Amino acid sequence: MQSSQMSPSGVFDGPMPWTWIVANRYQSTMTSAPKEAHSSIMRFGESISMGIDLHRAVDAIPGLVWTAYSDGRIDFVNQRWCEYTGLSNQEASGEGWRAAVHPEDLPRLLESWESIVASGRPGEAEARLRRFDGVYQWFLFQVSPLIDAAGEIVKWCGINSDIETRKRAEAVLSMHEHCFQLIVDGLPAVMLLMGPDGELVHVNRHALEYAGVSFEELKTWSTRIHPDDRQATMASVKAAMASGEPYDAETRHLRADGTYRWFHSQGFPLKDNEGRPVLWYFFLTDIDDRKHAEALLAGEKRMLEMVAQGLPVLDALCELVEAIDNDCHAGILLLDHVGSNHFRRGGASPFAAKVVDELDGAPLTGKLGPCATAVITQSPMFVEDVASDPRWPSVWRKLSEATELRACWSMPIMSRTNETLGVFSIYRKAPGVPTQFQRDMMGRLAHLAAIAIERVCSDRALKRSEECWRAIVETTPECVNVVARDGTMLRVNSAIGVLLGVPDADALIGKCFYDFVAPEHRQAYIQFNQDVCEGRKGFLEFDIITVEGERSHMETHAAPMLGSDGGVVQLGVMRDITARKRASEELLRSAALMAKAQQLSGCGSFYWCAADDEIIWSDQLYRIFDITLGTRITLDLIATRVHPKDLHLMTDMVERSKVGENLEVDHRLLLPDGKIKYLHLEGLARRDSRGQVEYIGAIQDVTDRRESEEALSRLRVELIHVARVNSLGALTASIAHEINQPLAGIITNASTGLRMLGAKSPNIEGALETLRRTLRDGRRAAEVMTRLRALFSKKMISNEAVDLIEAVHEVAELLRSEIRSNRIAMRLEADDDIPIVTGDRVQLQQVILNLLINAVEAMRGVEDRLRQLLIRIEWDGGDQVRVAVSDTGVGIDPAQAAKLFDGFYSTKKEGMGIGLSVCRTIIESHGGRLWATPNRRHGATFSFCVPVQAQDNLGSEHADTTAHDGRTP
Ligand code: ADP
Repeated sequence: MQSSQMSPSGVFDGPMPWTWIVANRYQSTMTSAPKEAHSSIMRFGESISMGIDLHRAVDAIPGLVWTAYSDGRIDFVNQRWCEYTGLSNQEASGEGWRAAVHPEDLPRLLESWESIVASGRPGEAEARLRRFDGVYQWFLFQVSPLIDAAGEIVKWCGINSDIETRKRAEAVLSMHEHCFQLIVDGLPAVMLLMGPDGELVHVNRHALEYAGVSFEELKTWSTRIHPDDRQATMASVKAAMASGEPYDAETRHLRADGTYRWFHSQGFPLKDNEGRPVLWYFFLTDIDDRKHAEALLAGEKRMLEMVAQGLPVLDALCELVEAIDNDCHAGILLLDHVGSNHFRRGGASPFAAKVVDELDGAPLTGKLGPCATAVITQSPMFVEDVASDPRWPSVWRKLSEATELRACWSMPIMSRTNETLGVFSIYRKAPGVPTQFQRDMMGRLAHLAAIAIERVCSDRALKRSEECWRAIVETTPECVNVVARDGTMLRVNSAIGVLLGVPDADALIGKCFYDFVAPEHRQAYIQFNQDVCEGRKGFLEFDIITVEGERSHMETHAAPMLGSDGGVVQLGVMRDITARKRASEELLRSAALMAKAQQLSGCGSFYWCAADDEIIWSDQLYRIFDITLGTRITLDLIATRVHPKDLHLMTDMVERSKVGENLEVDHRLLLPDGKIKYLHLEGLARRDSRGQVEYIGAIQDVTDRRESEEALSRLRVELIHVARVNSLGALTASIAHEINQPLAGIITNASTGLRMLGAKSPNIEGALETLRRTLRDGRRAAEVMTRLRALFSKKMISNEAVDLIEAVHEVAELLRSEIRSNRIAMRLEADDDIPIVTGDRVQLQQVILNLLINAVEAMRGVEDRLRQLLIRIEWDGGDQVRVAVSDTGVGIDPAQAAKLFDGFYSTKKEGMGIGLSVCRTIIESHGGRLWATPNRRHGATFSFCVPVQAQDNLGSEHADTTAHDGRTP
């Protein structure tokens, strides 16, 4: 407080001699004899008032000087005081001086003054004094007591020194300090000031707030470093302080709420003039979010790598959450869509495992908890405190008790196609809602989980599909191989092993396929493989040689594909076509042979599928029909070649094809050049895989044969006719001869008798004789007739077992060409179990022949309808077998019906009219019956029936022969 000093020379060396005088005196009186000191001062004062022009001296002092009584009244102010304040000595005296003191400062000044006076010791105070112009300036009021010789205080002397400049400097300094503090406190970082030995000397507001403790408590700052970081941090701080080099590190510090956060700590030394650190200031920037974000990013990267490697990732993902924020425990529940929806364990960090295990297998219902609700609503659920939340009391109360977990934040895991795959949850012991960072983290990790889950699903699907393809490839009889550009076999199926004679096909992998290719085909195969590996699909036939040295002819279809190393390789599917090749060569040969044979035989083959209107012809058929080779064959086209009169046969054939009947047709062609051809068609019906009728058949050009057959047939008919006429003639001649003789005798005797009786003298005797001869000849004639009848009835009929079906077949066969040439469709129908009859086979066949010839002749002129001949053999179940011959011929006139069986009745130009009468005789001689009936529409039916049992008139031999066969009822 004392600013004046005495120089060594003993003279005043400062602006305030009064102060020194008073202080000096005061000090001397205070230490040895205060009262005397006071009196000496008094005396000095008195001496002033006693005549020394002290006032002038005081006025000369450049400071403001005044004296006052102990009660505060001023009795003197110097000239400078008056000049400064603008008050006169008089105005200032007493308490007038107070008017010059700043009203704000006056109370404090008076208070200080009182306490100084009370203490009796020098003192000082600061206050603003008003200048004459009204401007206030700061002054230091220094006051000392004037003590008389008796040591009593007689007065107080004061001097006011102008401290305006200092005050201003102080104000500026204070403002700077204030600003500095504001800046430091306003820094977003924690700031610590430490001494060179690490002792904490100052911290900013942020530091106190973060730590939540007092400055004193904060002095043990090292205990608030995370235990894992503490040792290293202390060591590096110490090293920095020892070296004087700046400090830089990342450390976790304890926060008021008990959590640790990451800080970037930077320390800088403040050095003295000699370069020694005298102070260290540390800035700690909160990088916790950045650290978490970095950890999250690094974790995500790691997880993605794991996903890419196909490693299970869900547990690691949950553990990552705990590593980023050790207050957060994570769990993943997956949705099991098989059957009803259930939760399935996906993954968990160690602390959340209990929760996840508890929910594993739980059905997905809204009451289950936030996890289930997040899945159902497909939106995040952030529950501050599940234990106290009334929505999920049952499960969560228990879980919360067991795990102490309170907060539960759940986020649905959505697939790319917006399907819910599961739920990602974070559980925390402390109730609360997630920060923005935590929400973002959950979103990102849920997305990562979706990627991982979908990857697992697609891996599984891929594996299944691979297994499926493997099974297909293994099951196929085709040989499948993957060949590298250099011929190395990369993959093979077991069929290749079988083909090459290597039981373990996998042993072929790594071997060169070229080695198995026959040497003469190897170069072509190598070129083929190169082409495929350059991206072209291909097909090749080549031979391979198996390990046993056997040769097989192969065909391969190959396509380029990407190999496991990214290069193009050949995927080949090979087939052993040795047998097929042989067969096709065989086929070619036989096709050539057949074509030749068809050409030579005049027979062509066809395929016809009526449903598809598809007709395939052999070349020979084109030639037969005179149609350009290769022309598409249709029924309409065929119809243009069929003889107009036979078109109905074609129509009938098409009709019959609809029910799938086998076809056999004879018809004619009328070719464009007017030539007529006779064809015989036979078609075998079968059903294709769709059940449609298709025909495979042959058409033979039978023109030559038909013409010769017709000639032959005509000849045969004539012969039959002639034979019939001849046999009848011979019979007639023989009968005539036999009868003629007795008749001649009768006539001769009768005329002789007449002459004898007519003579003038009748010769009675002679006449009697001639009458007796006439009688004899008459008897002879009757005998001839009897003999003839006997001959006819006994000798012409033999007794034998006759199978009528067989007999009819034989006769029909005899007339086949006749029937065919007349374009008649003949059909034979017979009941089952037709019994054998007994009779004369030749005579019965003679009857059948007659009836068939008559039927053919009756249809010969028919052109407007089908010529159909039906022979039906029936058994009435008793003793009669009936044979009926129906035709669609001219029919019988009912008026003439009775005459038909009369001898010599004929409506034909060259008919003899004895056929039917002989037939009737034969049938009746068999004990049967022959009759005719007109058909309902066209033609007539001639029927006969014969008994099964032998007739008496056929003799006993018949009975023996009828028993030859068990078929006779
Ligand atoms: P011919 O055949 O020599 O005329 P037949 O005694 O065999 O002698 O026949 C007598 C007649 O009966 C024939 O001329 C014919 O008028 C008639 N006739 C025979 N069979 C048939 C038949 N199937 N359809 C129509 N008339 C027939």
